Amino acid sequence: MKELVEKLYRESDLSDSELKALIETEDSGAAELLRLRADEVRQRYYGKKVWLRGLIEISSYCRNNCLYCGIRRGNKNAQRYRLTPEEILRCCETGYELGFRTFVLQGGEDVYFTDEVLCPVIAEIKKRFPDCAVTLSLGERSEESYRLLKSAGADRYLLRQETVSPELYSRLHPPEMLLENRKNCLFTLKKLGYQTGTGFMVGAPFQTTENIIADLRFMQQLQPEMIGIGPFVPHHDTAFANEKGGTAELTLRLLGILRLMFPSVLLPATTALGTIAPDGRERGLKTGCNVVMPNLSPVSVRKKYELYDNKICTGEEAAECRRCLENRIVSAGYEVEVSRGDCRLES
Ligand code: SAH
Repeated sequence: MKELVEKLYRESDLSDSELKALIETEDSGAAELLRLRADEVRQRYYGKKVWLRGLIEISSYCRNNCLYCGIRRGNKNAQRYRLTPEEILRCCETGYELGFRTFVLQGGEDVYFTDEVLCPVIAEIKKRFPDCAVTLSLGERSEESYRLLKSAGADRYLLRQETVSPELYSRLHPPEMLLENRKNCLFTLKKLGYQTGTGFMVGAPFQTTENIIADLRFMQQLQPEMIGIGPFVPHHDTAFANEKGGTAELTLRLLGILRLMFPSVLLPATTALGTIAPDGRERGLKTGCNVVMPNLSPVSVRKKYELYDNKICTGEEAAECRRCLENRIVSAGYEVEVSRGDCRLES
């Protein structure tokens, strides 16, 4: 098993059967070697730096009905809110003072946020904070919309593929949602010049190792600048309320594999990982991660953006979140970097 880790470290790739063996291994020695190699590669490209992305959750309204998600359209118990442009700008202001140089506008697919509403907000953020990057994570939109948002100043877009296996996709999504559309959106975003982030949930209901390998192969094809993975965490008001969640061990093993397969990618230690294990994000940082995404949303709406149960960081003010994360980063042996943090593409 250790030989497989070394091969992945040397060649940044393995065959499907080798990947399967490594993903499923229970060999703790191999897991530790994977962690060490992932940390080494991360330090080669990014040193000990960790970038902060200020996450602003702009809306909990969603026209989609993804079976795993707490803010799915069909969840009548979900509390809905949307931020006004002024509120979004105020979050950015707070974030800028705290040293954030990337703002991530994330939300459900809220039909209120048309291009006419979003473009001026994006343009205003870029005007007030010209040294900042604007990242959007607003789901599937038309090519024309992605183009307009880009012209307004958006630099990056996060859209997880969730899964590229057609059967699994259809078990996690209602019939009106199409895998082909999601994949097309991702290729369109790349074509338009967005720095693109994708990813999937680890341990989603019905997910097999083969499904995960298909996702890794898809990402080799797409060549995203960022890859976000986190454990699936059940939400009590969804059909998957009683399903098992993903484990920290498998998530960490996949983070290590991703760092070796995509040496220069931006890899966040996600809030979901911090939710299922108190030291999850620190362990992520030690296994190749180099990004964290502290919450900048107004405290009054935080609990309403409930994608899954027990989500952490819903009670603190932005400044407290920032301080808490800085402490975690430093205690794990890394340092906070205050710059936009663009992906260092391999030369
Ligand atoms: N509406 C946007 C933003 C989605 S929320 C979009 O479609 O891209 C960001 C991510 O949260 C999703 O891509 C999904 O992978 C993750 N997520 C949703 N429900 C989850 C759950 N129950 N457990 C863990 N992650 C979840």
